[in-house]
Amino acid sequence: MKREKLTIQIIRSARRSISLEITPAGEVLVRAPRRMPEAEIRRFVEEKSGWLKKHLAKREENKALLQAEGFLSEAEVKRLSKLAKKIIPEKVAYFARLMGVSYGRIAIRKQKTKWGSCSREGNLNFNCLLMLAPPEVLDYVVVHELCHRLEMNHSAKFWAEVERVMPNYRVPRKWLKDNGGRLMMRLHGTGEE
Ligand SMILES: [Zn+2]
Repeated sequence: MKREKLTIQIIRSARRSISLEITPAGEVLVRAPRRMPEAEIRRFVEEKSGWLKKHLAKREENKALLQAEGFLSEAEVKRLSKLAKKIIPEKVAYFARLMGVSYGRIAIRKQKTKWGSCSREGNLNFNCLLMLAPPEVLDYVVVHELCHRLEMNHSAKFWAEVERVMPNYRVPRKWLKDNGGRLMMRLHGTGEE
């Protein structure tokens, strides 16, 4: 890890435990109890440096892939699918619980036309390219598909439901509109798998 480049933001509050996260903007954020000594916070970050290094490296890798032009290699697509199979079921479980909806099986696909879909039976499909999008975009697609468990359409009622779960959904939705097509163009072939 290039330590000199790493900015760590510390937010103190009335909480009892310390936690570490990487924000969508790539900043390292430490949430700590109000009175925890600086040295203890530093030690905590030090202990987590392996995790940080791994996640920041992955972020950089994905950023480079997103900014790059041309087709994704088969190996890159495979890596994204593998990552998606790990991350997306966790996201789905989290939001489904939050929303109180059920779902069927989850499949990860490489598709040139869709980011996700939800069948009447509640089976969910997600595009592996979501792994190249900012985390809030993935959250939005998961919430969107799960809202189809309540409304099988894109009515005002459906969007009200999306907004209830994710008040700022318009931001990631716009990101997909602006960048999604370009990202899908990077898949080989014409069909869907
Ligand atoms: Zn939809």
